[in-house]
This record gives sequence, C-alpha cells and structure tokens, in this order.
Amino acid sequence: MAITRDDLMEKVTALCKRRGFIFQSSEIYGGLSGFYDYGPYGVALKRNIRELWWRHLVELRDDVVGLESTLIMHPEVWKASGHVDNFVDPLVQCLGDCKRRWRGDQVQGGRCPNCGGALSEPRLFNLMFATHVGPVADSASEVHLRPETAQGMFVDFKNVLNSTRVRIPFGIAQQGRAFRNEITPGNFVFRLREFELMEMEYFVKPDEDDRWFEYWRAERMRWYQEVLGVRPDRLRFFDHPKESLSHYSKQTTDIEYDFPFGWGELEGVADRTDFDLRTHQERSGEDLSYLDPETNERYLPWVIEPAVGADRIAIMLLLDAYDEDEVKGETRVVLRFHRNVAPVQVAVMPLSKKEELIGPAREIVTALRPHFRVEYDQTGGNIGRRYRRQDEVGTPYCVTVDFDSLQDRAVTIRERDSMEQVRVPIAELVDELTQRF
Ligand code: ATP
Repeated sequence: MAITRDDLMEKVTALCKRRGFIFQSSEIYGGLSGFYDYGPYGVALKRNIRELWWRHLVELRDDVVGLESTLIMHPEVWKASGHVDNFVDPLVQCLGDCKRRWRGDQVQGGRCPNCGGALSEPRLFNLMFATHVGPVADSASEVHLRPETAQGMFVDFKNVLNSTRVRIPFGIAQQGRAFRNEITPGNFVFRLREFELMEMEYFVKPDEDDRWFEYWRAERMRWYQEVLGVRPDRLRFFDHPKESLSHYSKQTTDIEYDFPFGWGELEGVADRTDFDLRTHQERSGEDLSYLDPETNERYLPWVIEPAVGADRIAIMLLLDAYDEDEVKGETRVVLRFHRNVAPVQVAVMPLSKKEELIGPAREIVTALRPHFRVEYDQTGGNIGRRYRRQDEVGTPYCVTVDFDSLQDRAVTIRERDSMEQVRVPIAELVDELTQRF
C-alpha cells in the first residue's frame, strides 16, 4: 500500500513510541530537544546494529582491532584536532517575532523558515559541549565531551602499535557516545545532541590512500545491502565537492539514504590524510611515525575513516522496513526487517493460557534460544492479534503451540511477510527455522 513520504516519518515515530522502540528523553518533564531513549525493542535493534558492525569490521577480519577511549580527553586533543577552531556551524537568529535559531548553511532564501522574519548575521557557534574537571570551574579546568571517537584512535595509535602485532595496513575501531550541541536537532533520531558513533580509522601507506578509499566505500555499501538488507534503490554515494570538504579531508564520500525528507548522509567515508597523526605529533612532541619492518621506511600513515551513527542506522532501518498492507479489510502494520536486525527473530506462543500448552511452549523456547533471538508471548488475546503485534515489531516467524500439538508433536510456523502457515514437527523446528533464516 502506498504510504506518502510525509506520512512515513510520522507513522514510524508513532510506532516507535507505541511499541517501545524509542521514547523522548525525560518525556514526563516535557522532553529535551535532541535527546532520545531506547525502549526494549529499540535497545535490541541498536545492539544488533552495533554487533553487526563490530562483527564485520573487527571480528571477521585480521587487520582491525578495537579500542575504547574516554569520553573526556585532554583539552589539547581538541586544539590539535582542529575542533576548537573548526568544529563550528554558522548560527543565525530570527529578528522577527519567533526569535528562533537556525543553522545559517541550512536556511534557504535568507528568511526565517518558521515566521519569514529577517535573520541576523551568522555567528560561528562551536558544537562541542563544555564541562569542567574537578571542583573549580575556570578556564584551566575546562574540558569537552567528545564530538567524535576518532581522536581516541589517533592519540592511542602508538600504544596500539607497541602493544599488538598490527602491521600497516590496519585499522582501529571504536563505538561509543559522542556529543554535539547541534543548533537544529531533528528528524527524530537522525540528528541528535547525544548519539552513538561507530568509527574505524584504517592506517595505510601514504601513496595507497586512493586504493583503500575505494575499497572502504565499496565495502561499506555492501554491508548495508547484504548484511542489513537495506533496499539498494534507496542508497547512493555522494562525493563531496572539494570546496565543502572538512579541514582534514582529501576526499570524502557519503553513503546517503533516501529519507522521507530527502537524500541524507547515513555514513561518511573520509580520506583524512595524515592530518591527525601529524598535528598530534607536532603538539605532543611524541613521535607517531610508523617503521615498516620489511623496508625500514619510516612514515606517518594516512587514514581512511568510515564513520556512522548507530542511531542514524536505526531510524533508517525502521523507515526502510515500515510497510502496511490490507488483511481482511484491516490495515496491517509490518516492519519488514532483515533477519539479522530484527529485535525478535522467533516468537513462541501457546494458543491459550492453559497449563497443558504452556509446558510444551516453554520447552520450545528453551530449545530455540541457543539459536535465535526468541520472545515468549503468553499474553491473552486471540492469536491473530498476537501475530499483528509481532508484525509491528518485525518478527520474521511466529511458532504456535495448539491443542493438536499435544497429539501430533507438531507446531505451526507463521511467516511474517507472506503470512503463510506450515505445520512442522517439534523435533525438526530448529532445523526448519535455521534453513529459513
Ligand atoms: P553534518 O554536516 O550533517 O552536521 P557531519 O558531516 O559533521 O554532519 P560526520 O562528522 O561526518 O557528520 O559524522 C559521521 C556520522 O555520524 C554521520 O554520517 C552520521 O551517521 C553520524 N552523525 C553525525 N552527527 C550526528 C548527529 N547529530 N546525530 C546522529 N548522528 C550523527
């Protein structure tokens, strides 16, 4: 059924609240703009995103290792990285009635998008959140919450090099919170002030950056399509024109998704050159060069960085999966999640709350849990309604235990997308589901 782009975001936002994916932070106090909480199904979705990223960027490879650095780092880090001077957005304020603030580079036509009033001259606004370490709040104790995780990888580059057996080319990967005091957060969890970043710095020989840049662009696109199951026609590359590149970048490609509000950046793949290692080397006085053990060449590696926010993937997956169809004159809402990302993969339900069905249903849950993400659903209500609830959270299969099961030792598997039902012996259930997945 056709859902308009305008409706889609509203429907997904409503579903997220109704079914416990995502809530506004501090909602009972009126919420806080740019901050969101993840409810039970949202946590499961986000964990799957994180784990699939980690699995494919770290665990399944020989050449990438992990790191967890702190959210607050030495103040010099952000001076060296250029964030103190360059991590700024042009802030303009409405001089008309509404006095709202906007990002100057995102306002079309030079008038306030809300009330049409005139706008102030742009003023550069630094997006880093500041706080203080220790009891005295003065400029000497000022620190920032990290706006990216990447600097941890550069600052710890030498430590990783000296403590492991990595050889160039190799990567250091990190997932964790990042904070940006965005002027206009919005589009649900697309642009947040506190979010979860997943970044990998891949260190290469200086003259091999083009090759690895191409490699990581392609590899990351493949991940979205093959591992997350995102519709290929809603993904594209966007190569940044030279004049809009960040201060550290030689070339950047965004992987974009066709969001309801237009094509938007999902992930950035950047060729950061040796900018970060060089500037940290200069400021800290520490030698951050790499000695090639085979050629005895010494050089500062260049860096290719794929960087993406887990929250942005989450909203993208929800939008990509959302669908409605017509079943017996009623609208059925269904999230057509890929099995890899579905918060629940199999829901097991006894047809009624009778003890004689609960026992076998529980046994099936125990048998399935080592293999799949399983939810046991014994809530009352007819089976059709319970199927709909599982459709709404994107569960690919429901397994129903009924009174016949007690005689024939078989259960019904009901598939989410086709709604087809087949009868399968309990003894073959794990194999049958494994095959289907
Ligand atoms: P923009 O110019 O849109 O503010 P950016 O180019 O500065 O964004 P990057 O620094 O490239 O963004 O961020 C890397 C990735 O982190 C983005 O592709 C996105 O997935 C995620 N991300 C960045 N900012 C936010 C945010 N405010 N909320 C959620 N995710 C974000």
